[in-house]
Amino acid sequence: MAIKTPKILPGEKGYTSKKEKTSTRKSGEKKARAVQRKKDMTIGKIKTGSKGYRIGKPATNPRKEKRYLIWRYSRRIGEIIVSNKNTPEEEISLKFNRLGGIGNFKHLIQDADFQLQWAIREQELLMTQEKCYVCGKKISKAAKPNLYHYKMFKKRTDLLEKAANVPEEVVSGKLTIEEGWEKFNNILEEGNRYYMSLKDTALVCASCAKQKNLNE
Ligand SMILES: [Zn+2]
Repeated sequence: MAIKTPKILPGEKGYTSKKEKTSTRKSGEKKARAVQRKKDMTIGKIKTGSKGYRIGKPATNPRKEKRYLIWRYSRRIGEIIVSNKNTPEEEISLKFNRLGGIGNFKHLIQDADFQLQWAIREQELLMTQEKCYVCGKKISKAAKPNLYHYKMFKKRTDLLEKAANVPEEVVSGKLTIEEGWEKFNNILEEGNRYYMSLKDTALVCASCAKQKNLNE
C-alpha cells in the first residue's frame, strides 16, 4: 500500500487543513441547495403577490409530476402541477379550489336575513303562482313550498367557465396568484349573490323538487 504524501505540508503556502476543506465543501453544498431551492420555487412566470399567499414545497406525485400546494395563510386554496411531458418545456397547470361551490343551498341558507327573504318569496309566490313551474301540476297551498332557481344551472355553468379561465392568466404571468384568486373568488361570488337575490325563482311541486335535489 502506497502512502500518499501531500504536496503541500502544514505551514507551507497554499496548505488547507482537513477542517477548512470540510467547511468549504459544506458551504458549497449549502449554496447548491439554496440554488436548487430557488430553482424549485421558480415556476415559470407565476408570482405569488402579497405575503399572505405562498407556494409550498414541491412534492412528486405518482404520475411523476411536481405538485405545489398554494396557501393563503393557513388555508389551502389551490395547487400547481408541473409536468415534463417528454418535451424540453415544462407544462404548468394551476387549479384553484374553493369550498361551497356556487349557490350551495346548505351553505348559504345559514344567513338569517337570507332565510327571511326566502320565506317571504315563498309566501308571495304561494299567492300568485298556481302551477308547478316545471311540470304544470297544481301546487298545494298546504304543503311545504319548494322554491326553485330556474336559471341557476345556466348561470353556474357560465360562471364556472369564466372562472376556469383565470388560472391561465396567472400561469402566463398576467396576474399574481393573489390577483387571480381574488378574480376567481369574485366570479364565484357573483353566482352566490345571484342565488341570494332570489331572481328567477318560482315554485315547483314536491316531486319536481325531489327530482332536482332542491334542498341539498
Ligand atoms: Zn312539478
